[in-house]
This record gives sequence, structure tokens and C-alpha cells, in this order.
Amino acid sequence: MKICIDAGHGGSDTGAVGPNYLREKDVNLNVALFLGDILKLNGIEVVYTRTTDTRLGNNSNESLSRRVKIANESGADYFISIHCNAADNRSANGTEVYIYDEKSKAKDMAEKILNLIATTMGFRNRGVKTANFYVLKYTKMPACLVEMAFISNPNEEKILADEKNQRKIALCIAKGIGEAVGINIIEYKKGRVNAKEGLNVRKGPSTKFPIVRVLKYKEEIKIYSVEDGWYRIDDGWVYAQYVDLI
Ligand SMILES: [Zn+2]
Repeated sequence: MKICIDAGHGGSDTGAVGPNYLREKDVNLNVALFLGDILKLNGIEVVYTRTTDTRLGNNSNESLSRRVKIANESGADYFISIHCNAADNRSANGTEVYIYDEKSKAKDMAEKILNLIATTMGFRNRGVKTANFYVLKYTKMPACLVEMAFISNPNEEKILADEKNQRKIALCIAKGIGEAVGINIIEYKKGRVNAKEGLNVRKGPSTKFPIVRVLKYKEEIKIYSVEDGWYRIDDGWVYAQYVDLI
């Protein structure tokens, strides 16, 4: 199973900007990266259209065609585009998920993602909708575009700005994908330190990064993502070889 994750906008294209200046491109990217971590932890392959704050192409048409090209060349099974909604009316609120048309094979996944976000976050469920969006129309695989909440609504902007909520929304999207394809998604794995001398927690996934603290032998940890033989835990990274999964 391979999922192409598309964080909307990026670089000079900020996307919508909230009343307190939260930028859509930043929320989209954070949620996309959290989502990718969760999917990878669950053995699902991930392809991103962007992993940094960059603009794809020189204008919005180029940006959209680059995203579609990445998705189509990746051979991904599903395409998930992540956005925040915006409206002139600041009271507009809630979650909606778009598919290309009613016949889309992503409809079931779209419904599951939508219901999980709305229920878990307490957002208004605005339904699954159809739209002729470029990334939905030209991607070869079933595609959903998630409008997580309204960044133009001061309450929802505040919720979207919080990293804990970004993780929660990412988990909802991951679980929706998992439910639709029959994979039980877990948020983290549990591990136990097997190094008798203790285990360094580092700022990044390599010994080049500084040590944050030292875990004790047999201490239990939660593992949120895996990268090149390193595990990301709550406050840093540990070398996977010194941890037994439990
Ligand atoms: Zn957007």
C-alpha cells in the first residue's frame, strides 16, 4: 500500500491566512508530515509532494501539475491532499472532504476521514462533496482533498495552530485511510530500552545530533515514527537497535 500525501500550497503561496495570521501552508505541511509518520509506522509506504516550505513550480497551474505528476509517477494507490478551508464569513466552520465525482473509488475513504475528523475534533460535519479540482481530476489513483477546518474562523484557527491538534487530525486521516483499506492503524508502538548502560535520546536521527537526555535500562517508551534505524519518541530520537518492541 502506497499513499501520496499532498500538503497544499507552500513557499510564496501561503494558501489562506487566518485572522491571527496562521498560514494554511504551514498547517497543511505539519499535518502531512505527522500523517506520513503514522502511515510509515504502520508499514504503509508514503510519497510526499513536498516535505518543506517550498513552492512547486512558478505559478499555481504549474504547482498543481507538478503535484499530479509526482502522484502519477509514484504509482501510489491513493492520493490525499491536505488543506484548510476559508470563507469571507468568519463564522463559517467545519470539515469537508472532496472527491472528483460520486463514482470515485475514494468515496468510502473520504467519508471515513470526514467522520473521524468531525467526531474526534468536534467540528461540524459538512459532508463529502464533489468538485472539479485539478488534483482530483488528473490523478490516476482514487483521490481525496481534505478541508480540515476553516482557518478563517478564529476558533478553528486557534485549534489548527496547536501542534497537538495537528497530530490528532493526522491520526484521524490515517485511521480513515486504514479503515478504508483494511489496515488497523496504531498511533505509536511501545518499546523497552535494552541497553544496560542506558540510551541517549538525541535531537535528531543520527549521532551527530546533541543528547537531550538518557533513558534508563528497561525504561518503556512510545515510538511515533521510524527513520533509517532510528525511532522518534516524545522528546527526541533513539537508536532502534537498543530498543525492543513490546
Ligand atoms: Zn488550500
